[in-house]
Order: sequence, then structure tokens, then C-alpha cells
Amino acid sequence: MCAMDLAFQSLAMVSDLLSTGDITSVELTEVCLSQINSSESQVNAFVTISSDLAMQQATNADIAWQNWINGKSDQKPSPLNGVPLAIKDVICVSDIVASAGSMILKEFVPPYDSTASERLRDAGAIFLGKTNTDEFAMGSSTETSAFGPTHNPWDLNRVPGGSSGGSAAAVSAGMTYGALGTDTGGSVRQPAAMCGVVGLKPTYGRVSRYGLIAFGSSLDQIGTLTRTVEDAALLLQAISGPDLKDSTTLQQKPPNYLEVLSKTDNLKGVRVGVEQEHTTGSLQPEVEKSVQDTIKTLKHLGAEIVPVQLPHTQHALEAYYLIANAEASANLARYDGIRFGQRRTGKNLWETYINTRSKGFGTEVKRRIMLGTYALTAGYYEDYYLNAQKVRTLVQKDFVLAFSKVDVIVGPVTPTTAFKIGEKIEDPLQMYLSDIFTLSGNLAGIPGISLPCGFDQSGLPIGVQLLGPTFGEQQLLTIAHIYQQATDWHKHIPRLEH
Ligand code: GLN
Repeated sequence: MCAMDLAFQSLAMVSDLLSTGDITSVELTEVCLSQINSSESQVNAFVTISSDLAMQQATNADIAWQNWINGKSDQKPSPLNGVPLAIKDVICVSDIVASAGSMILKEFVPPYDSTASERLRDAGAIFLGKTNTDEFAMGSSTETSAFGPTHNPWDLNRVPGGSSGGSAAAVSAGMTYGALGTDTGGSVRQPAAMCGVVGLKPTYGRVSRYGLIAFGSSLDQIGTLTRTVEDAALLLQAISGPDLKDSTTLQQKPPNYLEVLSKTDNLKGVRVGVEQEHTTGSLQPEVEKSVQDTIKTLKHLGAEIVPVQLPHTQHALEAYYLIANAEASANLARYDGIRFGQRRTGKNLWETYINTRSKGFGTEVKRRIMLGTYALTAGYYEDYYLNAQKVRTLVQKDFVLAFSKVDVIVGPVTPTTAFKIGEKIEDPLQMYLSDIFTLSGNLAGIPGISLPCGFDQSGLPIGVQLLGPTFGEQQLLTIAHIYQQATDWHKHIPRLEH
């Protein structure tokens, strides 16, 4: 297999090649680093590339495989042993800068691993580097990063979506076999849709948030970006599960996500919910058509299509931006120039705070701190924050009721395909609207997956979203896998000119 073909294989496939000794981790890592080398100047998917660490980890991973293959060890390495991965820059990886896409953390080197990266490290995964993100994961296009926008590999003039745009673009451009992202309102699913890859946001509490630089703590969840559903299951298996360092994790061992994946190839007995309002209205016609085609495919595979109502999700956007910004304003109070990152010294402590935060944060982050602080102010708290929490409960109840009738809900991920760089950055409301279909899943805490399901007339990828009930990842992944086995949208790759 030539290096170019190898770069676009699935994680599961390269994992098999490693386990039989047909390829080494050093070779795989070199393939990824050379893809990064040739495309990074155009795509800007990474904030930090950790080539030395990657090569050192690859050497160790090869020893582990060799020992197993030669019978020197009876401990079979994890399927991730030797597989190159990338990690969004809001997730702490020990001894590598974690900038969160912000000037204020440009020099912050965490002395510890997040639980997710620690679990990947223990599984023998290779860390290629940290991927670009909107500043503190606030955005939908990766344009608010202090380190310049990421470009969509399908059209370099367009955004990759956001905020995990670096991770999505890196997977899409064949620079890595998978990546971690984070999803507070859609930031894994939305860029996955815009870059033609698979984005999984697990249930709130499925994956530890320890070592994740917090944005909206009650909404944030670490998720995965991969080429296939099976790859998402492999990564989720490694990073999920209880963690003493995060009391919001479910204290139960996660099920085996892979075991059930290929048990059947049809959807007989599966009830798929379709929300009427979501399938009409302000959708780009090609997105609407692809979602309708997906519904037909699911039906053809044996699923029963059931109409569902989610009446309160029409207020989800307002509730989300109040809650997310309120939490962000509290979470970002710690960046004062004293404990983390860059300090801009002033005449006194107060001036040091002001200088550090004025220079360190970008416009979008400041906007959110101001909105969030305002929503929490005495006198406005009841009108804004408290009401938003009430709406959140109603949205949760909508989903509980819907999932008493169906197994998954299908709909669009984004109203449009990838938009042009610069098109929405001056208009925050337009930008916020690009998450309209994903953020209710975060308010409800439920899992969601974005799958490639078509292309628009300009050849840009389209995604479809499947939402599942709380802790229903196993079923969600199984249904998504069956759909993916029956279609080949995920097999298309962008052609970057070098
Ligand atoms: N685009 C949404 C926002 O800007 C969601 C971001 C995210 O999921 N991190 O808040």
C-alpha cells in the first residue's frame, strides 16, 4: 500500500496491520508526519506538532507489538497501541503547551495529563500534536483561534466548522487516524459534518472532563473525530468510564462498544424518530435532501420511521447561550496572569489583572464573559439564568418523552455546508445559528453522532445527526455503523493540491 493510501485508512484497519506486524508504528507515524508536513501550511490544523514525542512513543509501541507477536509477552497490546492520534488544544497533555487557542495560555505547559489523554497514553497511542480550536472552544468556525483559522481540506477558502475544526480537518486531510475534540454545543459534530468525518459526542458523564480546560462545565464533553463509526467506538472504549478525578462521570464500567457493532446488518425492530420541524425550514436544500435520503436508507435497512415532537428545542439556542456564557464567565475568572499563562504586569495588582485579561483574551471570549456576567448579576439572574435553566429542563423532558417511543432521532447537523472564511465572523448571531441542531443535545446531556451522508453541488460534505438516549452510545454506534456499512459517503477524501 502506498503512503498516500495508508494515510487515509481507518484506525481499525491500521490497528489490524500493526497487530500482525505488517506495518510498524514508526512507519505509520512517519506517514502521518509527512502528511502534516505537506498539508499543514495550507490547512493549519495544528497548534503544536510533537514529532519527537510521537517517534519515541512509536518506538516503544513497536517493542510492545514485537513482544506479543514473538510470544515474549502474553499481554496483547491495546488496539490503539502504536496508532497516531491528535488532541484538541483545550485538553491537557502533560508537558505540551495547552493554549486553548488563546494568547492568554500561549505559554501554559500543563504538568499533568487529562484523564482522556492519560488513558490513550496508557493504551500506547501516539501523540502527533495539539489541534487548533476556537479560543476556549467558543465558536463554530475555528476562526476565533489566536493562532489563525484552520482551513477546510475540501475547500481551503472555507471554514472547517468549529470549535474542534483542527481535529476534524486533521482527520479529513489524512494527517491522523483519529482525534479528540470537545463538544459544548456542537463542537465535535458540527466540524465533523463540515469536514466529511465522523464526530461522536458521548453522554455527559461518559468521559471524564479532568484536564479539560473548562468552557461550560455542565455542557462540556470530550468526543472523538474519526473516519468511521467503528473507529469512534475504539476511541470511546479507551477514554470512557468512571474517574475519581471527575465526580460527574458515571460510576459504572462502560459496555463493550465494539462487541455489538457487527452483530447484524439491518435495522429491523429499530424505531427512528424524525422531528417534523427539523426537516423543513431554513435548511440549505442539498442538506435537506441528504437528510431525507438518509431517512429513506434507514427505512430501507428495516427501520420504522416514527414522527416525534420536541416542542421546546425551539428555545434551546437562547437557553444555551445564557447557560454556556454564564458558566464561561465563572470558569475564565481564573485567568488573571498570576497562576496560568501570560502576565502583563501593571502598576499594581488590579492593573495587572486588567492588562493581562484585556490583551490575553480575544473579542469573542470577552463578549461571552460580559454576557455571562450580566446574566448572573443580581436582579437579572432570575430573568435570564434561572429561566434558561427552566427551559433546559423542558428540553430534557422533551427528549425523555421522545426516547420512550424511539431508539434514535435523526436530523441535520448544520443548516448549511461549510461557509467561507470571514463570512460570519462579524455577525455573532449568524455564527451561533450554525449550532442550532446540535446544542439541544448538550442541554439534555444526551449522546449524538454526526455521519457523512452526502455532498452539495460544490462538492462540500454534508452530515446527518443521530441522537440517542442518555448512556445509549452502544445502540447509537450500532445503528450508525449499520448505516455506514450500507453507504460509502465516508470513503471520499479531499484532494489537496501541493
Ligand atoms: N459554537 C458553540 C459556541 O460557540 C459551541 C461551541 C462548543 O461546542 N465548544 O458556544
